[in-house]
Amino acid sequence: MSGIVYPKMAVIGCGLIGSSVTRAARAAGVVGEIAVAEASAQARERITALGLADSLTDDPAQAVKDADLVVFAVPVMAMGAAAKAAASGLKAGATVTDVGSVKEAVAEALAAAVSDDCFVIPGHPIAGTEQSGPDAGFAELFHNRWIILTPQVRADAPYGEAVARLSEFWTALGSNVETMDAAHHDLVLAVTSHLPHLIAYNIVGTAADLEEVTQAEVMKYSAGGFRDFTRIAASDPTMWRDVFLSNKDAVLDVLGRFTEDLQALSRAIRWGEGDKLYELFSRTREIRRGIIAVGQESAEPNFGRDHRHAEGQEGEQGAAPDTKSQ
Ligand code: NAP
Repeated sequence: MSGIVYPKMAVIGCGLIGSSVTRAARAAGVVGEIAVAEASAQARERITALGLADSLTDDPAQAVKDADLVVFAVPVMAMGAAAKAAASGLKAGATVTDVGSVKEAVAEALAAAVSDDCFVIPGHPIAGTEQSGPDAGFAELFHNRWIILTPQVRADAPYGEAVARLSEFWTALGSNVETMDAAHHDLVLAVTSHLPHLIAYNIVGTAADLEEVTQAEVMKYSAGGFRDFTRIAASDPTMWRDVFLSNKDAVLDVLGRFTEDLQALSRAIRWGEGDKLYELFSRTREIRRGIIAVGQESAEPNFGRDHRHAEGQEGEQGAAPDTKSQ
């Protein structure tokens, strides 16, 4: 147990990730007081009913007053406006972070909005589900997941101490902490997260538009691969629109590479080049085994879903570290 790392934490935007941060921080006992700013009256009702905050407001500047840690957990393109709305309430020496899925654009937006006497340390927990809203969060979301911090290039000791303190906070929430340059983060995540989501959105859209296959058939026979894509393609439309628009260059870069590789696969199928297909499928199987070996995925067949069904435990949000999207 770390003890109190931040006497007061403010969370701006209390959806899936924001509410998971409040739950996890409370469960770990690392914050004294939790203030939440949430724009929607409906979500505020749920936050009150769930007991997620010690104080709740629709005004970010009010929530961040006296906060030692401020976590912005709104969609990527809303970060700048949320930070501007909070700026007048921030105290000197506060650590300002976020959970956005894109880092370079958010880092710039936070730095532009917040005064120099705060410590801006952008972050991205590689943990999530396809669910949204305060009811969807859970305290264990960050267990054994990576949190990537993209600190500013600053050599002063107080900033270094603020980064160490934020790392201690995330470690107490169960995460493994990594630091990285923001642009590099955006390139890595374009490959590991953004492109897979784009492919899922596209394949489900294509299946839905196929005229020869009725939508009823798509749903009825959606086993295996397609069903996994539909889970990813159910992810929040606002969040993912913002991710693609904010990480445009890196996504287009890896999409170009992906398209070339897809063309090569299409050619191998056309020309009956079984060896090429076999070699690729063997390599990709090894990658999956590597992911399991480092504890980032379940080794159970079908992600362990059949087992959970049998025990009546299925339910996307609590189900496990094996059904995450980020
Ligand atoms: P979410 O459940 O939809 O919650 C988003 C929150 O932001 C809600 O409180 C929402 O309030 C608020 N919000 C939406 N639009 C806003 C705006 N224009 N101005 C101010 N507040 C606004 O989404 P989430 O999954 O928690 O995502 C939050 C952040 O976490 C995003 O930056 C996302 O990239 C990042 N992230 C997500 C995942 C994931 O798997 N979902 C994983 C890692 C990181 P309302 O109730 O009013 O809509």
